[in-house]
Amino acid sequence: MYGAEEFEGGVFHESIVGGRASATIELTAGSVKALTSTDQKFEIRYSECVLDMGGASGRMVFVRTQDRKLTIFCEDRRFPKALQLDGSVELAEQLASVRGLRRSEAFSWRMWLVVGTAVCLVALFGGYYGLLAVAKASINAVPISVDEQIGKLAFESRTVEGPKINDPIIVNAVKEMVARLEPHADLKGLSFEVHVVNSKDVNAYCLPGGKIVVFTGLLKKSKTPEQVAGVLSHEMSHAIRRHGLRRVMESLGIVVAIELMVGDVGGLVALGAELGKSAALTSYSREAETEADITGVRMLHAAAIDPLELASFFEMLKDEGPEFPIAIKWLSTHPQHDERIATIRGELAKLPPQEYRELDIDWEKVQQRLKEIDAE
Ligand SMILES: [Zn+2]
Repeated sequence: MYGAEEFEGGVFHESIVGGRASATIELTAGSVKALTSTDQKFEIRYSECVLDMGGASGRMVFVRTQDRKLTIFCEDRRFPKALQLDGSVELAEQLASVRGLRRSEAFSWRMWLVVGTAVCLVALFGGYYGLLAVAKASINAVPISVDEQIGKLAFESRTVEGPKINDPIIVNAVKEMVARLEPHADLKGLSFEVHVVNSKDVNAYCLPGGKIVVFTGLLKKSKTPEQVAGVLSHEMSHAIRRHGLRRVMESLGIVVAIELMVGDVGGLVALGAELGKSAALTSYSREAETEADITGVRMLHAAAIDPLELASFFEMLKDEGPEFPIAIKWLSTHPQHDERIATIRGELAKLPPQEYRELDIDWEKVQQRLKEIDAE
């Protein structure tokens, strides 16, 4: 298409002694070809390739076969751009498969337009890495409605954890906690929605866009409503800091970069639903967990709810020691609680004095209702 370009890189394959060798890579009209220093030839057709990025520099581009048995890699800065130009038709097909959509006349025409626009933008923004950087920075430019759509799909496709609780005493208690916290969320346009499910699991989560699911096990286990509010502040912070959307973006890589640049977010939503099914949307990196703790503490403090209640919740779970029931799901997705207690206390020390007010919730009455529901 643009003539054969050559790049220095390497190949991973079991037929190579030691599994890998350096190689000269050539981009032809239909495929990526590599000639290794061991004199072996490898080829991956664009239509069969899976693209990936990473390596120590984060700049290594991996071109893999679907079964991942053969990988051609290259760190040359010009490589991804050349790949995008030479393999544009097939990359468009990859975009289509990520989006889980069937190919159609109109669709491929549209994808051509998307890829074409992206290529022009690559030139404008000074290359592929510029494009990636722009995409990362532009997370704030993604409308909240995308988070909401991802959350909605994930909510609908989730494995329902237990029967829905509609009892007003219980549901209103949780709503009261969220109502105290919500005005202090520093992300505009997010609206939280409370769902209570009857399950012995000590757990709660918040999906992108603000759908909160609280398990009765968490309510029963908590000594005070402020402890529950502490857990909720943390979960809501994941939605506020858009950790789910970030995960989706990381998984989609270049596809998202292109889509964001052209303002098309269909792929994000489709992948979000996929991640939602596998519960990956609510398991975050350690960094994200710390960020959620810090954001949660600030929010509790601003809402005049004592953040130490969250720390005391951790202490209580910790004190249960080896006998603690398997039912404590929240701990399994939120490890290292000594470190987290330290984070909470450390963050609190930075904040100005605050007069804390108890939540206007009759906790005994809530506990009574929970018992009655169990007996029913
Ligand atoms: Zn978390």
